[in-house]
Amino acid sequence: MTPAKVTVPELMQGIRNIPDFPKPGIQFKDITPLLADPRLYAGSIELLTQNFKPGSVDAIVGIDARGFIFAAAAALKLQCGFIPVRKKGKLPFQTFEESYDLEYGSNTIAIHVDALKKGSRVLLIDDLLATGGTALAAANLMKHIGVEILEMNFVIELSFLEGRKRLSDFPVRSLVVY
Ligand code: AMP
Repeated sequence: MTPAKVTVPELMQGIRNIPDFPKPGIQFKDITPLLADPRLYAGSIELLTQNFKPGSVDAIVGIDARGFIFAAAAALKLQCGFIPVRKKGKLPFQTFEESYDLEYGSNTIAIHVDALKKGSRVLLIDDLLATGGTALAAANLMKHIGVEILEMNFVIELSFLEGRKRLSDFPVRSLVVY
């Protein structure tokens, strides 16, 4: 059964702003109320996958850790595989790695070398687009493999950080824009 469509204002009611978390100056977007509401959670998956039908996507790549919550459910909906991009040191097999700068310091993410086949049609899903550094690093990881990124999907976009500009090589879609 297809769940009823949720609206953007409804989704926004499931997103709580936590000032100064995890450090002063950051307005953290807490998605746990959205996840706790089965209608909003199912509705968000419906919207994230709305441009695709089962058979049109080979795999959904989710980004550690909150991206997994949406990417795994979306993979079940589109009847395709779920592939994790994880923080360095978490994946047990041989990996490709990509480092990128954060506001303070840097981060390294990894994907298993055999996670995707060359030419696979892939959706990338994360909970939130901020500066775009994480999604761009994930795209660079997949460049090693040679996949086709059909869309990059985010539940939330912080548009004032202009992450979309860094991702201009890819179709980017977000459900709630601040
Ligand atoms: P960025 O690489 O700057 O686009 O940051 C995106 C990643 O950082 C996502 O995986 C988010 O989960 C996390 N993130 C960045 N800023 C926030 C925020 N204000 N609230 C919640 N998560 C955030």
